[in-house]
Amino acid sequence: MGSVMENFDHATPIVVVGGGAVGMLTAFQLGRLGVPCIVAEQKLDISASTKSETLNGRSMEIFRMLGISDDFRTMVDALDAQESANEDWEITSETSVPSMAELTAENDGTWFAEPAQTCSTTVLERFLRRMCFTKPSVEIRHGWKYLSHEEGPEGVTATFIDDCWEQHAVKSQYLVGADDCEARVRKNCGAEPQKYCSPEGRVVLVGESCASSQEASRINQGVEDAVNASWRLAALLQAYGSDQLITSYGESKAQPDGKGRCKPSTSPGSRVPHITLTDGKTSTIDLLGHEWTLISSSALANTDAFCSVADELRMPLKLVKMVREFHAHSILGYNLVLVRPDGRVAWRGQEVPSGRDQVSDILQEATGWGN
Ligand SMILES: Cc1cc2nc3c(=O)[nH]c(=O)nc-3n(C[C@H](O)[C@H](O)[C@H](O)COP(=O)(O)OP(=O)(O)OC[C@H]3O[C@@H](n4cnc5c(N)ncnc54)[C@H](O)[C@@H]3O)c2cc1C
Repeated sequence: MGSVMENFDHATPIVVVGGGAVGMLTAFQLGRLGVPCIVAEQKLDISASTKSETLNGRSMEIFRMLGISDDFRTMVDALDAQESANEDWEITSETSVPSMAELTAENDGTWFAEPAQTCSTTVLERFLRRMCFTKPSVEIRHGWKYLSHEEGPEGVTATFIDDCWEQHAVKSQYLVGADDCEARVRKNCGAEPQKYCSPEGRVVLVGESCASSQEASRINQGVEDAVNASWRLAALLQAYGSDQLITSYGESKAQPDGKGRCKPSTSPGSRVPHITLTDGKTSTIDLLGHEWTLISSSALANTDAFCSVADELRMPLKLVKMVREFHAHSILGYNLVLVRPDGRVAWRGQEVPSGRDQVSDILQEATGWGN
C-alpha cells in the first residue's frame, strides 16, 4: 500500500483549513488572483454569534482595494436591520468616527481610505462566504473536519472527516492553516510559536491559528495575514515567485496599521498612502490592480522596460500613469512606486534604471529571488 502522499481523492493547488472570516478572505483573494482552492470548514453552517468585531480603517481600506467595501457596508446595514428586529440580537453595526467626509477633508496621506466598521462575527463570515461564492474557483466544503496532514517536498496531503464519517484525502501544493486558536494545523506541522509557516514551507498560518492570545485587534491582523499570504502563494503557483516569499512570510508578518492616522510613506513594506486625486473621489488605493501595480507620476518616465521584463518573468503587472496629480505626487515623493498585490510598496525610485538588468534585479528582488 502506498503512503498517504500517493493516495488521495481530491487534488487542488491550495487547501484552506478553516472557513472563519480569515480563511474565507484568503480563499476569496486567491480566487481573485486566479488560484483555485478548497476551503474545509468543520461546521455545517456559520453559527449565529452576537460577538462583534471592529474592522479598522486599514482593514476596510483592504476591503476597498479588493473591491468589496461598499458591498460589505450594504450587507452589514441590511443584516443588522433584519437581526435587530429579533429581540435576541443586539444592534452591532456602527460606523465609527472619522466619517468619510472627515477622511476626505484633510488630504495629507495620513488617513485611511475608509472609516472603520463594526459588525457581528456572523455577518462578517456570511459576507465573506458570499464573496467566495462569486469565485467559481473557490470550493467550500462545510462539515469537513481536518484531522492531520503529511508534508513532502512536492506538497501536502491532508485528511478530513466529513459529517457522514467519511474520510477524504486532499492533495495540494500548499495548505493554509486558518483554523481557530486550538491551532491543530500549527501543532501538527511543528511550527514554533512566532513562526507563520512550517519548517518545510508548504504550510502557512493565518489568523487565529497563529495569533497570540494577548494580541489586540486580532481580526485586523487576520485581514493583513490573508492578503499577505495569498499573493505569495499565487506568485509561487504562477511560477514567478521564489520559495523565499514563504520563508519571509514565516519570519515576520506585516503588522496591522490602523489606529487613527498613519504617517504616509513609500518605503518598502509600507502601505500605499491614501490620497484623494483631483477628481475629488478617486483614491490612490483605487489605482491598484488585482496584482502588481507600477504607479508612474512622471509623464517622461519610459516604463516599457518594467512592462517587458515583468512579461518575461510572467509577473502580472499593471502600469498606472498618474500624471498631473501634483499633490499626490508630492506625498508619494517618488516618480515610480511598485506595489505588491497586498497594497504594500515593494520598490520606489525617481527614474527607470537605464539597463534592463537593473529593472530585472528590482522585480526579482520583489518576488523573492534576491539574496
Ligand atoms: C472569545 C473570543 C473573543 C475575541 N475577541 C476579539 C476582539 O475583541 N477583537 C478582535 O479583533 N478579535 C477578537 N477575537 C478574534 C476574532 O474573533 C478572530 O480574529 C476572527 O473571528 C477571525 O478569526 P479566524 O478566521 O482566524 O478564526 P476563527 O474565527 O476562529 O475561525 C476558524 C475556523 O476554523 C474552523 N476550524 C477549527 N478547527 C477546524 C478543523 N479541525 N477542521 C476544519 N475547520 C476547523 C472553525 O470552525 C472556524 O470556523 C476573539 C476571538 C474569540 C474566540
